[in-house]
Amino acid sequence: MSLIPLLDHTFDGHASEDELLRRERRGKAQTAALWDLLDQVCDPEIPVLTIWDLGVLRDIDLDQGQVKVTITPTYSGCPAMTTIADDIRAVLQRAGYAQVQVELTLAPAWSTDWISASGREKMRVYGIAPPQPRQAAEIACPRCGSADTRLISEFGSTACKAHYQCNQCLEPFDYFKCH
Ligand SMILES: [Zn+2]
Repeated sequence: MSLIPLLDHTFDGHASEDELLRRERRGKAQTAALWDLLDQVCDPEIPVLTIWDLGVLRDIDLDQGQVKVTITPTYSGCPAMTTIADDIRAVLQRAGYAQVQVELTLAPAWSTDWISASGREKMRVYGIAPPQPRQAAEIACPRCGSADTRLISEFGSTACKAHYQCNQCLEPFDYFKCH
């Protein structure tokens, strides 16, 4: 996967309001190092995406050595969340934070709008068409960029993806559906 660009959280392809809000939280000096550490935690299903990229990582509090990490699951009941919570604890404990609490918050509900600009770009390079704004009619091919694509199946490799094929380069690909 050497083709995945080394994009960090500062990549601003087209940052959403949610991303700008999270960047503000991330900028706080007290917890900045913790946000950076958690860039090591990735989505088990799309391993090029960090929990920052996904918008799953909502906030980090540090109080007298105690860390509280707030996350919002992507799809309700997503089994990946258990793995993600375990990974968060492991990364922070390795860095010397013995007391780590991971809190799951369900409201407001996660939306594909929360996926960062860097996340969308990494997804495209990985071969998955990133979610489009709801009004966009065309799903661009992640390989050649052509908008001349067709839906093969509403369900791709997982329920949150649809399967498409490009009419130009004939590449089959998954589209990460809006939610
Ligand atoms: Zn194509």
